[in-house]
Amino acid sequence: GAPVLELEDLVMHFGPVRAVDGVSLSIAPGRVTALVGESGSGKSTVGRCVVRLLSPTSGTVRLGGTDVTGLGRRAMRPHRREVSIVFQDPAGSLDPRMLVGDVVAEPLRLQGRGGGRAERERRVAEQLERVGLDRSVAQRYPHELSGGQRQRVSLARALVSEPRLLVADEPTSALDVSVQASVLNLLADLQRDIGFACLFITHDLSAVEYLADDIAVLYLGQVVETGTREEVFARPRHPYTQALLAAAPVADPVRQRERTRVLLGDDLPSAIDPPSGCRFHTRCPLAVDRCATEEPVLRTVGGGGSVACHLVDDDGSGPDVRDATPG
Ligand code: SF4
Ligand code: MG
Repeated sequence: GAPVLELEDLVMHFGPVRAVDGVSLSIAPGRVTALVGESGSGKSTVGRCVVRLLSPTSGTVRLGGTDVTGLGRRAMRPHRREVSIVFQDPAGSLDPRMLVGDVVAEPLRLQGRGGGRAERERRVAEQLERVGLDRSVAQRYPHELSGGQRQRVSLARALVSEPRLLVADEPTSALDVSVQASVLNLLADLQRDIGFACLFITHDLSAVEYLADDIAVLYLGQVVETGTREEVFARPRHPYTQALLAAAPVADPVRQRERTRVLLGDDLPSAIDPPSGCRFHTRCPLAVDRCATEEPVLRTVGGGGSVACHLVDDDGSGPDVRDATPG
């Protein structure tokens, strides 16, 4: 069938800030695509454009083959149920004055669905149990729950309208480390059982390895590499992806940050005046002269997927940052 989501040359500028600068990607029904990158790379902005919390500066958002980019509130309504979002911080995204049952039922009410009160209550109870909560939680307020429970409520709310696509924006990173795995497991189980497609926004590569079918790597508002999870983990081709993965297997987070710093140097440059040529050239250990002047095009390469780097050949071969720098 048609892709659940297609982004074509999506651009989102906030004044001088070029947060998203020409992102194209597509997600097939039932697939999980991880959108990976450092904080400030534009990941969340892409997610907010997909669910139409933001209206993009230019480019196209298609849901199930329908262009929804220019649709106003009213015209968007029939498409609302096709896509839901779960945010990083459940405390900030749940209305503290609403009972959990009403929070979960609200999408149905807003979409004019879900029948009468009794029918809605039945569906809410079913949803709560599906995310591992007791149905009595419906009568409580969000602040009476733990962070992990609140994120389960967010998932119940996001899935109550049976969307074909879930945008999950760092769904576990605001949670206690001790509950992160259980919420991630829940998301994986729900995805497998229900079969919705997912745009999984994260900087956590172990979560990507666990959950994703496909990967798109974002750097300063642009996609620099795409591929299946297997391809990208076995053979990352873009120097930025290589650097991210070089840091990943180190279990100690302090050492992991140190390793990334050694490979990548400074922080992400500003999106107000991004570097010329290849945006990654100011941090790329492999950069050559042309990288500062010539912008590499994201192109399909042999072995599957796509890469934007001058040094990667059409067959997908090229140098590896991890061989070029001290470990
Ligand atoms: Fe590095 Fe040049 Fe490739 Fe950019 S184009 S990733 S700067 S080698
Ligand atoms: Mg973010």
